[in-house]
Amino acid sequence: MTAPIFANWLSQTNDVTQIFLGASEDPNLINLAGGLPDPSVWPVAELASLATTAMMDHPDKSLSYSPIPGLSDLRDTVARRFSKDGLTLTRDNVMIVSGGMQALDLIGKVLLDQDDIIAAQSPAYLGAIDAWRPRGPKYRALDLEAQDFDPAPALGGAKFAYTVPNFSNPTGRLVLLAQRHALVQAAYETGTYLVEDDPYGTLYYEGDVLPSMLEISASMYKGPYTGPVIYLGTLSKQLAPGLRIGWVIAAPEVISALVTGKQGGDMCTAGLTQVIANTAITSGLVERILPKILELNKTRRDALCAAMDAYLSDLFQWRVPQGGMFVWATARNPQLNTDRLLRVAIEHGVCISPSSAFDPLGLNHSAIRINFTLNTAQDLAEGIQRLAAATRAVLDT
Ligand code: PMP
Repeated sequence: MTAPIFANWLSQTNDVTQIFLGASEDPNLINLAGGLPDPSVWPVAELASLATTAMMDHPDKSLSYSPIPGLSDLRDTVARRFSKDGLTLTRDNVMIVSGGMQALDLIGKVLLDQDDIIAAQSPAYLGAIDAWRPRGPKYRALDLEAQDFDPAPALGGAKFAYTVPNFSNPTGRLVLLAQRHALVQAAYETGTYLVEDDPYGTLYYEGDVLPSMLEISASMYKGPYTGPVIYLGTLSKQLAPGLRIGWVIAAPEVISALVTGKQGGDMCTAGLTQVIANTAITSGLVERILPKILELNKTRRDALCAAMDAYLSDLFQWRVPQGGMFVWATARNPQLNTDRLLRVAIEHGVCISPSSAFDPLGLNHSAIRINFTLNTAQDLAEGIQRLAAATRAVLDT
């Protein structure tokens, strides 16, 4: 017999998410659903050499258990990398996690109580929704499209606010500078944490890089950071997701609480990839490969948007994102159900992510997320033609 709690978990799992994650493994499909970088950007030979050096020269660090908050060298490196005029970080502000996804999981585990309120950018990252689902949180939407964006009412009484300010997953949208200031201000006024999830902050293809809310909030302090922002970073889109290296930057007491959660989880992030990551950052490898990543992604974004202009503009509308990995397209006909479109698109040989996966209540059914980083320009164009045919088939039935 299935234990009740397990049955509960299964009944809450979003089957649409299972479908597109599963289908994206099919080699016959053009996968526009996932969020993967192109493998050609991974510096494989350099990483292999760093792995050998890590094991030969530092077996104590790379092959043993690590301290729970992460190797001190890497914590110091992250603290240095993010310290700026006005933002002072020490090792105590930093913990290393097994990808940003683990940070989201720990935040749910440590900060959230049953039925707590989260003020979230809407639509929201499906990994965060999944991580927090077991706590049954209630969501309030942060309406970034509002003329006079005032987040204070949404934040008041919430356990934390959650945003992906740079090229959000799923919408590809930026949280504007004034909105960032308003969020920080509201966090102070209401005493609410602000979770700033930033995997795409290095992926600006044009436009000025906006300051993070971590930086904005730090201007209110002197000395090491003690503000309300819980900043999440990762090497997944800047180096390689398989390394599973991410970090949390926050006030020391938040770091201590999350470390307690990690102790009861994986206990430590793999030492081997922590040593590799530290050298990859300090040697400049991460910075050296960035231009190649930006160029490839930008070319593919342009190819995708050109194909969408050619084949999809009578069916969907969208904004061209200035960075990141995704275009969010909303059906011109609100009757189009994109859960159903997913199933028909798979029959047509293409896979997209439907909007219901990014809505905690699963109610948004009229938009899709399209990834542009994984496929060649040719496959993107073919995928969009298949998607247009699938959309027409759904609308005709
Ligand atoms: N947050 C967001 C918004 C993401 O898009 C992702 C990756 N898809 C993550 C967190 C997790 O990334 P990782 O665990 O690979 O660091």
